[in-house]
Amino acid sequence: MIKKILQIIIILLFLSFQQICFAVNEIKITDLVFDNSSKIIFLPTYNTLDEVEKLNVESKSLENPNRTFFDISNSILTVGNIVYNFKNSPIEKVVLAQNSTNPNVVRLTFYHNNNIDLSKVELLKLRNGLVLKLEEMNIPNSSLHRSFREEKSLSSDFIEKLTFLKQISDDKNNDQIQNEVTSIINKPAHGIKTVGEDVLNNIFIPDDTKRLRSKSYIQKLSVRNGNILLNGLGNITVEKPIILSNPSRIAFDLANAIVSHEIKNKTFNISQNEKVLISQFEPTKVRVVIYTDNVNDYESVFSFDQQSLLIVNKNRISNVKLSDNISKLSSFTISNYNIDDKNLTFEFNNPCVFSYIRNPDNIEFIIYNANFLDITKIKTTLTNFFGEAKVESYGRSIIKITININPNSKTEFFETINGKKAVILIKNKMLKPQPIVIPKDNIEETINVPKNADKKLIVLDAGHGGSDVGATRNGIYEKDINLDVTNRLARMLTKKGFKIVLTRREDETVSLQERVEISNAKRPILFMSVHVNASVNESVRGVETHYWKDNSLAYAKIVQKHLCTIDSPARGVVKSKFYVINHTEAPAVLVEIGFISNTQERNELISEKRKEQTAKVLADAIVEYLKTVK
Ligand SMILES: [Zn+2]
Repeated sequence: MIKKILQIIIILLFLSFQQICFAVNEIKITDLVFDNSSKIIFLPTYNTLDEVEKLNVESKSLENPNRTFFDISNSILTVGNIVYNFKNSPIEKVVLAQNSTNPNVVRLTFYHNNNIDLSKVELLKLRNGLVLKLEEMNIPNSSLHRSFREEKSLSSDFIEKLTFLKQISDDKNNDQIQNEVTSIINKPAHGIKTVGEDVLNNIFIPDDTKRLRSKSYIQKLSVRNGNILLNGLGNITVEKPIILSNPSRIAFDLANAIVSHEIKNKTFNISQNEKVLISQFEPTKVRVVIYTDNVNDYESVFSFDQQSLLIVNKNRISNVKLSDNISKLSSFTISNYNIDDKNLTFEFNNPCVFSYIRNPDNIEFIIYNANFLDITKIKTTLTNFFGEAKVESYGRSIIKITININPNSKTEFFETINGKKAVILIKNKMLKPQPIVIPKDNIEETINVPKNADKKLIVLDAGHGGSDVGATRNGIYEKDINLDVTNRLARMLTKKGFKIVLTRREDETVSLQERVEISNAKRPILFMSVHVNASVNESVRGVETHYWKDNSLAYAKIVQKHLCTIDSPARGVVKSKFYVINHTEAPAVLVEIGFISNTQERNELISEKRKEQTAKVLADAIVEYLKTVK
């Protein structure tokens, strides 16, 4: 009996010990990053904060010198102290340091003048960091906005959770706190970073980690004179719009964004027969859909505060003042900041209202309140650098600049906080060619017939289409070749007695999700997506077959075997996580039927002979593969 009781006690002790172990959960703060709006401070963390049970932030303001600090509980600063000095700013200095008297606390201290009230700071918890929103803060700094989606950033992990600040209990006297602060300041700093005029001359912060990943929280949607205004917190980033039909609509996706519950899934009327719907399309993507017959009339315009986005109807711009001030272009420069990269800098005397669109082979920069003195001169300068450039003016004050660029270039857009300077960065660095991975033969090649599949039904997917042209060279678009070959393939398979479903029949924009939905709804025996390849190395040519799921390997091998009979180098079967072959339930392959970037192959790809031959070998491959499926 006693033995039993002892056993139970031991078990109980063990359990409680385990609980203690799990409860210990410190926040590891890795850096301090200013959002380029200067109203937000981001403290990135090493660990994910949704696991952290208790997170308290206490604040207190003190005088002589004026300062406000925020104590973050259960946290560790994994780097040394971080100190920022600001010139000509209401905030003079920001210090992030491990508290010397309480080692479990990280203290963020602001030294400031009387022009700023830090009592209204809001705290936002992200999965991978903490955000302090300093509404009243107005640092006239020159760090730059990052308007567009960071290619490197993961589809991120915003969690909608607010913790409230409370006033620190007054158990310490001012002297004691003063001493703590002094001791922190006197410690050697991890890095003194001065943000001021000098930054203007050194726009490109070399350290990628110092940039806040764009994130935004959309709080408000309002319709003004037939235009749509979105307001929120954080940098709004927008992707290229998607045009959809039945009913006719245009969708703007806001990457890395969360929509407030108050407006989520709500519809707003724009005009008598137009409306707009805002929804959380993916966990970290907000979709704004405008139902309209005139989809091409809508485009996105950034306001210079970066926290709002205006979606305008081009025909209604004249009714709406996007800015009270006309901005005169005061300087325009093109510079190489290293061998491969160029930056274009536009400076204005007033904040400018603009939109920036990256198309596959050009950039469109539209300024809505501009006054350019010498359009011809700018056009000549741009043409000298980019071969072909257009500078057009519309209406009262709209200037549109179009620059042709290499489709492989990466571009970024920055704007200064005062809205008076815009920088377009074009990176021409050669992209590394993707390594070809030949799958190991030991993967079990199961011939997988999807459940309830229609054995006579095949879904064919002509890659790209509509506003998404795919790879392009010399005015030839991948989307057109894909559609032509796919339609030929469809006709051949129909003659052989198959039922064919096409994800697109003509030159229309169809999202990857829609392509997958079509296939999964139809339950075909297999899926094939047809694409044309491109490389920065113009000598590269050849054919590839991509698969992702193991149930598609046997199918991919047979397709590649037949593709190789075309007079083009065989580049193999490649395991690739492409969206359409990863999400379709049926065995799926994506074929790359040649390189548009190779002059000889491009000319072949648009020829009747090659298109017909490609369709034929793909049809033969499908027939051979389906013979193995019983
Ligand atoms: Zn493609």
